[in-house]
Amino acid sequence: MRLDHEAFRSETETFRSRLLLWAPLVLALYMFVWPTFKRVALLPLLERFLPGAVSHFTPPPPFPGLTSHLTTEHFWATMPGLAVAMPFLLICGFVTVYLMGAKAYCSYGCPYGGFFAPVDRFAPGRIRVTDACRQCGHCTVSCSSNVRVHEEVREYGMVVDPGCMKCLDCVNVCPKGALYFGFGPPAAAKPSPRTGTFFRAYDLPLSEEIVLAAVFALSFFALRGVYDVIPVLMAMGMAGCTAYLAWIGGRLLRMPDVALQNVTLRAEGRLTGAGRVTAVGVAVVGLLVAHSALVNAHRTRAERWDREVRVPVSEAFRKHRAPLDPVDRERAQAAARHYRRADRIDRGGFGLLATPEMTLRRAWLALVLGEIDEAEAHLRHRIAAGGEVAPMRVDLARTLRLAGKDAGAERELRDLIALDPADPAPQRELAALLESRGDLEGAVAALVVVHHLAPEDRGSRERLIYLLLRLGRPREAARYRD
Ligand code: SF4
Ligand code: SF4
Repeated sequence: MRLDHEAFRSETETFRSRLLLWAPLVLALYMFVWPTFKRVALLPLLERFLPGAVSHFTPPPPFPGLTSHLTTEHFWATMPGLAVAMPFLLICGFVTVYLMGAKAYCSYGCPYGGFFAPVDRFAPGRIRVTDACRQCGHCTVSCSSNVRVHEEVREYGMVVDPGCMKCLDCVNVCPKGALYFGFGPPAAAKPSPRTGTFFRAYDLPLSEEIVLAAVFALSFFALRGVYDVIPVLMAMGMAGCTAYLAWIGGRLLRMPDVALQNVTLRAEGRLTGAGRVTAVGVAVVGLLVAHSALVNAHRTRAERWDREVRVPVSEAFRKHRAPLDPVDRERAQAAARHYRRADRIDRGGFGLLATPEMTLRRAWLALVLGEIDEAEAHLRHRIAAGGEVAPMRVDLARTLRLAGKDAGAERELRDLIALDPADPAPQRELAALLESRGDLEGAVAALVVVHHLAPEDRGSRERLIYLLLRLGRPREAARYRD
């Protein structure tokens, strides 16, 4: 029995995009090549010839109390929690499969596949065909990678689709035993005898492909990192689903008969119940993605301005500091404004969630702008979100001192010292507070502790020597000299 190809195509209408197939390769280059290229070539070149542009490629500086850890003992704390892992599994493991086929994520999302696909074109080992093929189409129906096996073996004498996993399902089901795995010329050496090109036929017209690729790219940038919860691989899966739903939405508007898998959405120009639900779902997804795009756009602009603020930490925490440079003020205000718009609705923005990182940046910018009460409020909000908050609590104590709330600052520091007596940071800050209050003995006691905990801290040691001399204890001071 030979196959009616057009009837077969409409019955097995699946989503085979030629442009989206490039998305994993772009992602792979971004994930595995771009960071090294940036570090080894781009940043050194910019530092030499265009130093002003370096800040565009580096993250905003950390809030003063935070340190960058290259190692951690809390490995699992660096992993996404259940709130991210479950939707990740649901979207990348189930929704993409339901919408676009069994290997959809492998084809349109996986960066490793992005590297494998171009290399596969040169692989000599492929699914090949003999003259026994009768074009019945069983092989295509059995393929869970959405490969049009019967068409490809007819056109090329082998499967050329890089999505082929060499699982041999098609070989097993062929009633004529016409398929086999064998070695010969690679796919790259065999243009289509019909089109004369190396490009395979795909289901979608190029105009639809271009719209799809644009929706995919916009959705990816809208969703990636939004609220600091969507990791890049999840954003790929979500962008693929969004692009697919946009494609279905477009078909619902234009075509009289539309189906999603075996569910009829529109028949003879009339929407079915499932069609109406799908149309509403597509609209809701579109609105959510557009909203995320707006939030991410404000966040990106905020970070751009934030990177340009050049106020030293020591200056920001100085009680009687020089007036802020007008350029820095303008940049800090712009950054603060965009961070606020990207923040949660009850915090002055139009986002759906507040993120700890953004709250910390808002605290820093408020401090830079001299809005001490606001800086305190943001810091308290960030501390309440949890995590490694001890450095932030030291910053909170410093901020409270700026606001003249010395009693609150001392309470915060003593509380921290009680929690972790081996941390020199609160002791150092307590020494400064006690000294400013005239309690030199108390300051000396705190600095002695700092010296024992962090003997490499030259600044604290010199302060200790100075205070001991002021207290008329030169012999004791001499013990701390080099
Ligand atoms: S390869 Fe086998 S299963 Fe596929 S179309 Fe030919 S005869 Fe049918
Ligand atoms: S080997 Fe597997 S993945 Fe490749 S064409 Fe055959 S059924 Fe599809």
